[in-house]
Amino acid sequence: MSFVFEPEAIPSLAIYQSEQRFPVRRIYCVGRNYAEHAREMEHTMGRETRGEPPCFFTKPANAIVTGGRPAHYPSRTKDLHHEIELVVAIGKPGANIPVADAWNHVFGFAVGVDLTRRDLQSAAKKSGQPWDVGKAFDESAPISELHTIEQSGRMESGRIWLAVNGEMRQQADIGDLTWSIPEVIAELSSLFTLAAGDLIFTGTPAGVAALQRGDVLHGGVAGLAELRVEIV
Ligand code: MN
Repeated sequence: MSFVFEPEAIPSLAIYQSEQRFPVRRIYCVGRNYAEHAREMEHTMGRETRGEPPCFFTKPANAIVTGGRPAHYPSRTKDLHHEIELVVAIGKPGANIPVADAWNHVFGFAVGVDLTRRDLQSAAKKSGQPWDVGKAFDESAPISELHTIEQSGRMESGRIWLAVNGEMRQQADIGDLTWSIPEVIAELSSLFTLAAGDLIFTGTPAGVAALQRGDVLHGGVAGLAELRVEIV
């Protein structure tokens, strides 16, 4: 068999203290998974008030930016936002995974930024259109190296934070997730068959704000990893 042109290399993440890399298959993201952030987005539904299920969207696997490389300020926006997030990496396939079994599907964790063209996302929300142009653009997912769950533990609590040019913008605890990691895996796997290589961006805490060219983002999750990325 031969291809009509050379296929792109498979996007992949470095694994902490390993020579091997983690091949990325799909990127799923959870919207509004911290109550304070849902409020700042003026979202009045939610798990507590209306029994709303989690909100999912996707990014292409080749949207990741790795190795501390810079991310280019994207086209067609005047309001690029940062969203620091804990990222779960799936290591074992499954559909309809029970909450009680979900941890067995976790390979490890990373820290990522869900870069968002907020103006395009807001326009899409208003007109009932999909979020892709606001969320799934090139270089929209800067991400750290991966730590295996054996290295990091289950990451059920810990400070998540993001500073821009040294100024703290986002700070919360990953224990405050509206939908916990096992609940996210259970719900997502009832919609899509998960496979090894899938990443799940678990949502961002409050404090999202605009970025400019030249800004340097520095963020992390305590006990896991840190990420530094420049917007160029
Ligand atoms: Mn997000």
